[in-house]
Amino acid sequence: MKKTIEDYNLEDKKVIIRVDFNVPIKDDKILDDTRIKRSLETINYCINNNAKVILMSHMGRINNVSDKATKSLKIVADRLSDYLNKKVIFVSETKGETLEKAISNMNNKDVLLIENTRFEDLDNNKESNNDEYLAKYWASLGDIFINDAFGTIHRNNASNVGIASYLPNGIGFLVKKELEELNIKDKEKPITIILGGAKVKDKIGLINNLVNVADYILIAGGMSYTFLKAKNLNIGKSLLDTESIAFCKEIMTKYSDKIILPIDSVNEGKIIRESNVEDIKDEEIGLDIGPKTIELFKTYLVKSKTIIWNGPVGLYEKKPFDNGTKSICEILKNIDANKIVGGGDTSSAVINLGYENAFTYISTGGGATLEYLEGKVLPGVDSIEEK
Ligand code: AMP
Repeated sequence: MKKTIEDYNLEDKKVIIRVDFNVPIKDDKILDDTRIKRSLETINYCINNNAKVILMSHMGRINNVSDKATKSLKIVADRLSDYLNKKVIFVSETKGETLEKAISNMNNKDVLLIENTRFEDLDNNKESNNDEYLAKYWASLGDIFINDAFGTIHRNNASNVGIASYLPNGIGFLVKKELEELNIKDKEKPITIILGGAKVKDKIGLINNLVNVADYILIAGGMSYTFLKAKNLNIGKSLLDTESIAFCKEIMTKYSDKIILPIDSVNEGKIIRESNVEDIKDEEIGLDIGPKTIELFKTYLVKSKTIIWNGPVGLYEKKPFDNGTKSICEILKNIDANKIVGGGDTSSAVINLGYENAFTYISTGGGATLEYLEGKVLPGVDSIEEK
């Protein structure tokens, strides 16, 4: 078992929390602040325990100096101040005297946010390559390190992995919850996985790891057309992941009772129309599951005790191809089961479609969630001390 924030006495301590404030921003507006909200439990716990809270996060990628202008965390500091109902001290530096002075001036219960850790990537990718000296420097700013950045937990960075080598450490409440909620092996059966999204290639690891644990895997979205192609069906101009056809054939043969494919499709050609999967025309592109598939999937979902969903079942960003994803949300809303959404696009889809409350748990991770579900070792967890 990994150490957690609750294993430490935080009184008077400078607690560095690596959070994931990598929120989507457009025209100076935060489009989805879920990750900020989900970090509040750990931050408030530190405040209530009289710690000095030092927050670190990355935001986007910094490839050249001009990226700095649009990737500052200042906007996040303002939103966080609103949620905490107190001023968040924002330091627009990632190292140096100004930062050190601001930290030494902190009182207990103060919250300070350091500028985007990836600003350090302008200097030989020091953050992203887990530079030892940078990690050591950041560690020198605090007394305890807490990793609560689940969205970054699969990365080997200075601010989330390197830093842990130089300080007493633990995971925060968000990471703890993510690891518990996504630990599918401990979940009640029958377990059904809904898999959608664009590419089969991205989901091969996931299918291989989950096929032994899950009772059913419902395949949908762009990736389902490669499975249909592997069954020698004509998929017209639908998404095709040629490299993965052999994998699809193999897994369908081996687990024919578990892998469930769509039986109809909503296609865009000269017109938008529904068809059985056997009747997709050459000029058509399949962009959503049809009503028969929705009914078929429902028969598996209603008998499940645990449902994990990764990847939208259609091109949900464009009407009417959001219907499949919406219909699955609607079905799940009325089912009494442990319903977990894992993965960036799916989480945004269900939140934007207004179905946040239909789920038991919505993961804050994208790639991290996938890698955890694939059973991979996560560097951000691995670097934390055992109890
Ligand atoms: P992923 O990142 O692999 O989970 O893919 C998510 C993306 O796949 C979303 O942008 C969806 O709109 C897209 N998608 C889902 N179904 C389809 C489809 N049938 N054709 C094209 N794109 C799709």
